[in-house]
Amino acid sequence: MVDLLIIGAGPGGYEAALEARKHGLSVTMFDERPAGGTCLWVGCIPSKAMHHVAENYRGIAQLQALGQPITVGPVDLKALWAQKNNAVHTLAGDVSSLLQNAGVEVKLGHAQLTDDHHILCNGVLYEGKNILLASGSFPFMPPINGINLPGVLDSNHLLSLQTLPASLIVVGGGYIGLEWAFILRSFGVKVTIIEVLPSLLTIADEDVSKRILVFAKKEGIEVLLNVQIGSFEKTETGMKVNLTSDPGRVLEAEKILVATGRRPRVEGLGLDKAGVQYSPRGIVVNALKQTSVPHIYAVGDCIGNPMLAHKASFEGRQVAMHLAGIEFQPDYSAIPAAVFTFPEIASVGLTEADVRAKGIAYETKRIPLRANCKAVASDQTDGFFKIIYDANKVLLGAHLMAPQASVIMHEVAILFHEKKPLTEWKNVIHAHPTLSEIVQTMLHSL
Ligand SMILES: Cc1cc2nc3c(=O)[nH]c(=O)nc-3n(C[C@H](O)[C@H](O)[C@H](O)COP(=O)(O)OP(=O)(O)OC[C@H]3O[C@@H](n4cnc5c(N)ncnc54)[C@H](O)[C@@H]3O)c2cc1C
Repeated sequence: MVDLLIIGAGPGGYEAALEARKHGLSVTMFDERPAGGTCLWVGCIPSKAMHHVAENYRGIAQLQALGQPITVGPVDLKALWAQKNNAVHTLAGDVSSLLQNAGVEVKLGHAQLTDDHHILCNGVLYEGKNILLASGSFPFMPPINGINLPGVLDSNHLLSLQTLPASLIVVGGGYIGLEWAFILRSFGVKVTIIEVLPSLLTIADEDVSKRILVFAKKEGIEVLLNVQIGSFEKTETGMKVNLTSDPGRVLEAEKILVATGRRPRVEGLGLDKAGVQYSPRGIVVNALKQTSVPHIYAVGDCIGNPMLAHKASFEGRQVAMHLAGIEFQPDYSAIPAAVFTFPEIASVGLTEADVRAKGIAYETKRIPLRANCKAVASDQTDGFFKIIYDANKVLLGAHLMAPQASVIMHEVAILFHEKKPLTEWKNVIHAHPTLSEIVQTMLHSL
């Protein structure tokens, strides 16, 4: 009998496997594709590889605006994918080597529970003392007429486009839709975002939501809010969207990207056969990530929001450590999140609306990126840094819009994690000129 059987070799599954091996547990892990999960094959890594390419394009545009005689031919999408493919295959090789060197048995194929101690994969039955479900999530496609037409893509299909569409309608103003909208706009695609809600990026702080709308429009991205979709239809040149919120109004583009969120993957796992409780919102777990069957655990996207790779990894490690007799609880309040738009958005802790809803007495401070020398030097001053803090000046939430915000936010995440008055960090010296100095400017202002 194996100590730990794992379904899903994404960040949740493979981090659990590696941690479990460190503690001497035997591990067999199953996945339908080579290890890496959504994050590596179709999620974080492909999108950030393309974000990097887009950043280079924007650098060229900046030089052209300075009058430099640089000309760029039409975008060859297949060639641009090369950056993504290199990154994905390098990292896939790294993950596989790590797992192999650690002694994790990896089986390629669909796996499902047959009862609470057994998993069937490729006709072979495996017995486990403990089981971890890390099956991830899938793109949610809303029930709209025409959603299955070939010109309607989800974030997975987008990666197999052979040529760049001249125009794209992005349905959904969440982080996946926004990231691809900004990336593709940088390559010259005419992008329209349509969102059912009254703002973009609704889970973000309200100042961020308002600002990203301004920046999207500045990029030339058309944004329609409060929109209800009637149907998608094929046209001679591409696709069209009929709006019920504005009868008679039709939007046309070569392709449609549907980015309306993701749902936990709970089907096809044999959960009922093992007596594991779940709902469409995910597999039900307690604080230790035990399901309704205590020796069956679940982590990552399959247990619901927030669906972030680093959250999945920490939960995977938590389970492996628990099995090894070490208790470790991820600090959910201190999980940083990043959105790779232009500029990047990063946050840790609560939004101002969250703080208001909790009835905590608070103050906010906001510094424009224009106050940062490096931002001015590189002519990238769109953005701001906002903090929300309590009466003792302990940080409740931080929200940053700036180039490299995803990197800078980790310093703030440490301040958040420490839960000490921010004034205690005033004397931490920051190098000049750096974008990180915005944190020092903020601390000095308190
Ligand atoms: C476009 C996009 C961009 C993203 N960008 C970011 C980002 O920048 N930062 C971030 O933190 N997160 C990002 N995410 C989210 C991130 O990818 C997920 O949160 C993360 O991958 C979840 O890890 P996981 O281990 O829970 O599941 P997954 O990575 O989804 O892995 C689950 C694995 O289980 C396998 N599986 C499922 N069921 C079975 C079965 N029955 N048998 C065999 N195998 C099975 C699947 O094949 C899959 O490989 C992005 C997602 C997308 C789609």
